[in-house]
Amino acid sequence: MTETIHHRICPLCEACCGLEIKVRDGQVASIRGHNADVFSAGYICPKGVALKDLHEDPDRLRTPLIKRDGVHVPATWTEAFAEIERRLPPLMAVHGRDATAIVVGNPAAHKIGLLTYFPKLARALGTKNVFSASTLDQMPKQLASGLMFGHWLSVALPDIARTDLLLVIGANPLASNGSMWTVPDFKGKAKALQARGGRLVVIDPRRTETAALADAHHFIRPGADVFLLAALVNTLFDEKLVRLGAVAEWVNGVDEVGLALAPFTPEAVTERCAIPAQTIRQLARELASTPRAAVYARIGTCTQTYGTLASWLVDVLNTLTGHLDAPGGVLFAKSAAFSANATGKSGVGKGVVTGRHFARVSGAPEVMGELPITCLVEEIETPGNGKVRALITVGTNPVLSSPNGPRLAQALDSLDFMVSMDIYLNETTRHADVILPGVSPLEELHYDVAFPQLSWRNHARYSPPVLPGAADQPHEWQTLLKLAAIAQGQGADVDANALDDAQFSEDAKRQFGDGAQKVIEATQGLRGPQRGLDVALRAGPYGDGFGTNPGGLTLARVMDSNAFGGIDLGELKPRLPEMLRTPSGRVELAPPSLLLDLQRAVADLNAPVPALVIIGRRDVRSNNSWMHNLPVLAKGPMRCTALVHPLDAQRLKLMDGAMAHIATETSSGPRSIEAQVQISDEMMPGVVSLPHGWGHNLAGTQLNLAAQRPGANLNALLDDQLRDPMSGNAVLGGVEITMRALA
Ligand code: SF4
Repeated sequence: MTETIHHRICPLCEACCGLEIKVRDGQVASIRGHNADVFSAGYICPKGVALKDLHEDPDRLRTPLIKRDGVHVPATWTEAFAEIERRLPPLMAVHGRDATAIVVGNPAAHKIGLLTYFPKLARALGTKNVFSASTLDQMPKQLASGLMFGHWLSVALPDIARTDLLLVIGANPLASNGSMWTVPDFKGKAKALQARGGRLVVIDPRRTETAALADAHHFIRPGADVFLLAALVNTLFDEKLVRLGAVAEWVNGVDEVGLALAPFTPEAVTERCAIPAQTIRQLARELASTPRAAVYARIGTCTQTYGTLASWLVDVLNTLTGHLDAPGGVLFAKSAAFSANATGKSGVGKGVVTGRHFARVSGAPEVMGELPITCLVEEIETPGNGKVRALITVGTNPVLSSPNGPRLAQALDSLDFMVSMDIYLNETTRHADVILPGVSPLEELHYDVAFPQLSWRNHARYSPPVLPGAADQPHEWQTLLKLAAIAQGQGADVDANALDDAQFSEDAKRQFGDGAQKVIEATQGLRGPQRGLDVALRAGPYGDGFGTNPGGLTLARVMDSNAFGGIDLGELKPRLPEMLRTPSGRVELAPPSLLLDLQRAVADLNAPVPALVIIGRRDVRSNNSWMHNLPVLAKGPMRCTALVHPLDAQRLKLMDGAMAHIATETSSGPRSIEAQVQISDEMMPGVVSLPHGWGHNLAGTQLNLAAQRPGANLNALLDDQLRDPMSGNAVLGGVEITMRALA
């Protein structure tokens, strides 16, 4: 018997916990938290343990599939690439590059190969039809941060280790361990905050797990966060509580904000928010008078029609209470690699722009190089020049995770050609003509590209593969390069390694000019994302500068730290003005596009409030649509239930545990689902909560365990035409429903 111990960062959610994995005779024997991990200190949630189930899942695809006569049959990699070459380039030659579209999903954010090589495929396709899960999730936060601080990933993060007041709005970090804020063991950190006399306050239409722990919880009507936040800021001006603290000399637009938010008095928004005006004023005073305080808001504030405005106002509030860039307030991480706000010219930059191109059918603007994912369906359906005829999906399941999935499923069947890279034959990939299996996380190296830029503490951690992959399984970055080569007419027989070498040389010349040769020589022996990572670390803020900063970080040093839990780079520190990348070199508190968009909210202040609306829900044992086939997570009570307040249940004659019919009116007609009722006073009256990512009862999938308890698809109820116009983010919550009991 041979037994080995491995240390691996968990790739299943944004918390990035360090795991200790015991392997016995080539099989995973156990998974637990790695106590020595410098970032997560042994914390693990039930999903981390499920990596074993994921690796061993008999339904996980291990060989390519080609659809022949409507049935997916196993194929070799050579056959699969040949089929793509036979069908994709001719279609592009006839119909043009915009006849292709590409969609990338959330798992790509957790895989360095996918994240750093996906752009190469998108560029090779040359289409403007690039979509991702970002417009189902966090695009409003990224856009607001970009407009204020100059880069899409310059997100202000609560300094939870030192704050004395944390206000959480529309987020449930106790279940998620942070989102756009990487904070493993949020519960432990929140309890430590309370133990030192601090307060946790939660605003949410549900008494979430986080709210249950909080010192105070206030219900709010779904979608009303923008009004609450505007009224909090309004109170600061009204009661002369504005103070900028140490960042005062770097902030533009304070007076403009005060003027623009004048209509949003607490008294004017109280009915819209269902929060007393006095409570709003009191909260504003508390934030202003607590020296160390932070406001954090997430998914509930993003997935609504005012997502960007709400995200912006969170940081306006942090700034005007003197907590921006202040210890105990909100700070910016300084990531060791891949961070645009820690490299290049300091303190100034190009900022962010949107609308460099527009969706053909809706005219929605591009944001961060993408179009809103809810535009995909009409781009496939609508005839004309530029109609999407071929689609590539990478680790994504929009049939379940995007609004109006049934309409999208129908549209996918009308495509001329579809390729999916995925680990499952799921509700979306079942429509593909060719499926290329992804790699089990345990078979690939790992370094988080994005999340160290969002982390509660600075760190650098690398994980080597835990188990060897199949001999014929290419790395995912190699698959992406092959697809790129096919799209560019270089053929399916191209050598991905040679292509990578050539592209790396070109990139090095662009980035380092005369120093490129030194970089190429210094990274000899490396290839793919490992080589890119070595360059990013060495050229990064803690790097060895390829010899100019001896003792600085290199990939070798970070790799050597794996068994010891990685390298701790210390607590977050004030970074203004050095981290700014706005053209002005200042914090833009009043971006003109947001002030203009505020007029929508002014007009909507007195809009009627629907009697019953639906929102989503996060569960610690689930993450979107793809973890319902794993035994360790699927066991226990059914989690896809519609939570209903007792008063609503009584009014609608709903019984606990019985099935109910839930219906909406959308722009493309009525929609309905059937879901199991769970009566709970944790809901705000008038609000129903159902988690998303369920509905595993569609034909043609291979998710046998998930299909046994399929649940209901919340997104089937939602309207693909409802978006935040600034960011293109879909509206996933606060949607009006009707509900009735089923016999
Ligand atoms: S919280 Fe759970 S799923 Fe997320 S990284 Fe940690 S162990 Fe993995």
